[in-house]
Amino acid sequence: MSHRTERAMVRVKGQDVHPLQRIVARHSYSAPRGGSLPCGWRERLPDPADYYGQHVEQLNRANSKGWAQGKCPLHDDRQASLSVHLESGGWRCFASCGSGDLVAFHMHRQGVDFRTAVLDLIDKGTWA
Ligand SMILES: [Zn+2]
Repeated sequence: MSHRTERAMVRVKGQDVHPLQRIVARHSYSAPRGGSLPCGWRERLPDPADYYGQHVEQLNRANSKGWAQGKCPLHDDRQASLSVHLESGGWRCFASCGSGDLVAFHMHRQGVDFRTAVLDLIDKGTWA
């Protein structure tokens, strides 16, 4: 928590609540997509195994180090060019799509910015 965030707190029913948290809770994710992300969003990201299991075709079983291969949905993949780590969410495409974490993958797949990707990912109805 930065000093600036603390000063932005408001008191609601005797509890300190960040103004943005109130908006997100009340309007779900139809809230305007500007400003900071909800607190603790990293902990609310989906299980990478669930996410990749739904979006990567022909995903095989993870090897002993946790990496699984499947068809990359980010390009027209005829082989299994994509490696994903089912625990950390890390990914790498051996064609030319790049690599990154789960949020970066969702950004590429949906063509959205970081903030929109995070908001999609913490709302299971949007990514699944
Ligand atoms: Zn690819």
